[in-house]
Amino acid sequence: MNERLKNDHLLDGDRPAHDHRKLGRELDLFDTDPLMGSGLPYWLPDGAAIRHTLEEFIRGRERRAGYRHVYSPVLGKRELYETSGHWDHYRDDMFPPMELGSEEMVLRPSLCPHHALIFRSRPHSYRELPLRMAELGGMYRSELSGVLGGLTRVRAIQLNDAHVFCTPEQAADEAVAALELIREAHRALGVVPVRYRLSLPGEGGKYVADPGLWQRATALLTDVLERSGVPFEAAEGEAAFYGPKIDVQIADGAGREFTLSTVQIDFHQPERFNLHYIGPDGAKHRPVMVHRSVIGSVERVVAHLIELYGGAFPAWLAPAQVVLLPISDAELPQAERLRQRCLDLGLRAEVAGPEHGSLGARIREARLVPYQAVIGAKEAVDDRVALRLRDGRRLDPMPAEEAWSRIGALVADCGAELWRDEPAR
Ligand SMILES: [Zn+2]
Repeated sequence: MNERLKNDHLLDGDRPAHDHRKLGRELDLFDTDPLMGSGLPYWLPDGAAIRHTLEEFIRGRERRAGYRHVYSPVLGKRELYETSGHWDHYRDDMFPPMELGSEEMVLRPSLCPHHALIFRSRPHSYRELPLRMAELGGMYRSELSGVLGGLTRVRAIQLNDAHVFCTPEQAADEAVAALELIREAHRALGVVPVRYRLSLPGEGGKYVADPGLWQRATALLTDVLERSGVPFEAAEGEAAFYGPKIDVQIADGAGREFTLSTVQIDFHQPERFNLHYIGPDGAKHRPVMVHRSVIGSVERVVAHLIELYGGAFPAWLAPAQVVLLPISDAELPQAERLRQRCLDLGLRAEVAGPEHGSLGARIREARLVPYQAVIGAKEAVDDRVALRLRDGRRLDPMPAEEAWSRIGALVADCGAELWRDEPAR
């Protein structure tokens, strides 16, 4: 079925469902070029501003939760993925190897093998565990061109990923904490899961054969879901090849379900990479790897946010947070000065001057911008602005500095509200 047609005719409450591909183009967020290839979108400045904000948001939450970030390359030798098991169980989704002299290099299908090597590169004591290693990094999937579209089916993926290396006794607590981080991030983003899925292996050779491993990991994840108090359903044939996982399922405007966030317990890769830490007894012990993604891939989460908000993003995520509207050319220098002041304060601000049409036309044009600051002759002299909020509220003129400070506080909170009546601290 033609997806665009389908979406145009669907209603979400009394609001038409938004198609992120259509809006992404209309709002200049991202695009593709046949010469770059399908499934390889590029980000325009407004889309990049949203993405950058989200990336910093998630890194900040991770830092507070005890994660430390690394960078690792987006490709590796074929032997790396033979060791991890990807080559045996996941090869159909991987790009074919590139020959480089006597070596074969592969675009990575996941970040785990690199993180396992980083862990292995240094000795670790049990005192360092749990060791939480995070990276927002690229990975690649050889999707067929027929199924590619927008930001939801892509060949290059930026994943918000992390691996917690811990003792078997710590694994459940780490998974519970990861689920809590996911729930907090979803609340801030306004994302509402439709269900939690315990994803188990199915038939066939896609999964590593080790019944004991699957039983242990499944028992642990079941315990995690029960402790978290979330209702869940088990689904066969949805596990990772190396272990079961908890998938947090989201639905798009058309009701199609997809996995955004995930928590996995893995006994397999620590074995394959021969990972160990030194225990209190002075002997070597095998750690467990907890894989988790809080917001999934930036492509998928931004696609979802575009559809969820129809382009009217919460102020902290909006590509332009403030638009300065000088009534006439005479106030243009003041508008430019205030824009620079906003930029200095870390706010994303633009000027829409009289060359863009009447004030009414400019206000309509900027209707997705959370804060519209009108500057007339009187405001320009007093260093004040008359704020109009995106929801239609109009505030009395106030000192520009007060406006920026109150907007800045709201943006820093990553909340949904546009204005608070109490004065700023
Ligand atoms: Zn992983």
